[in-house]
Amino acid sequence: MCAIPVDNSTKSLIGLDANDKHGYLGISTVDWFLRRGGWIGNAILIIDDTKSVRQQILDTLYGADLFSDYFESGNGLEGLKTLLNEKIDIVLCDVEMPGMDGFNFLAMVSPRKELQDIPILLLTSHNVMETKVKALEQAASDYLTKPFSPGELLARVKVHLKIKALQDNLKENNQLLQKLAQTDPLTELHNRRHMMTTLEAEFDRSSRVGSPFALLMVDLDHFKQVNDTYGHQLGDKVLQSTAWEIKATLRQYDSAARFGGEEFALLLPETSLKGANLVAERLRQSIQGIEFTGPLSKLRISVSIGVAVMPHEKITTIKDLIRLADAAMYTAKRKGRNRIESVPPA
Ligand SMILES: [Mg+2]
Repeated sequence: MCAIPVDNSTKSLIGLDANDKHGYLGISTVDWFLRRGGWIGNAILIIDDTKSVRQQILDTLYGADLFSDYFESGNGLEGLKTLLNEKIDIVLCDVEMPGMDGFNFLAMVSPRKELQDIPILLLTSHNVMETKVKALEQAASDYLTKPFSPGELLARVKVHLKIKALQDNLKENNQLLQKLAQTDPLTELHNRRHMMTTLEAEFDRSSRVGSPFALLMVDLDHFKQVNDTYGHQLGDKVLQSTAWEIKATLRQYDSAARFGGEEFALLLPETSLKGANLVAERLRQSIQGIEFTGPLSKLRISVSIGVAVMPHEKITTIKDLIRLADAAMYTAKRKGRNRIESVPPA
């Protein structure tokens, strides 16, 4: 037998008494430690009212290095609790159990969205087609007939772990894609399309419940001159700094987008005209205060801001809202820039 020496901190980590005079781990303990250690990272839940069946499954799985965590339950209800409280990657569940049986267990699990991606393999003790069909109809991922062959159990478990890993990966990639599709790559604010979707939702919500919200159109002053003087690469830096100030000014539920070249749109939910003007003024000041370094160190920038607040008698569509906020922003430009104008109340 192979043995490795361990120090006291390792002993406490794996739950050995620090006074354990051996100070060595036998290979079986190391093996156990590795399984618990999270390098493998999968967790399985085995639900069966017969302890010897659970043990048989565990013995089969231990040899396969598939899991770092093994959970057991003797009945469906206890199994459901474990499934809700632990991070489980796959479930093996007996069909015939007193109390909550396998089908009842499935019926409890399948409506829960957070559990829908976890494969559930049912174990039936009779080879009846009806039971198998019912299992699959009730959203079980697969079934196994008891007594099972260890090879088949492992093969099925591996397939479903693989499918789950691919699904998880796909979901992650989809989320990343979705985020990319909503983001302006230069400033990392939302893009125009995503702002339109957010605006539509807020517009609907506001019309339904009558809650106020504000739209701020924020445009960099003399930005063409910045590009002409410093070049587009430094111009991009100016846009990024402006976006950074916008992000720093926003409150938790506000959202901001790069709406056009040097124009930004800010949506402030639950905000009155007074509140919107306060946010606009804070933003105007912080952008005016930006100090650049390097070749831009002499540059000072400012923004003109147009504010529109809903509900408003003259505004019945999102197009109206954007047009009037934009018009207020152009009024601010006309009146000398670096200032705020709002759509007058009707
Ligand atoms: Mg049973």
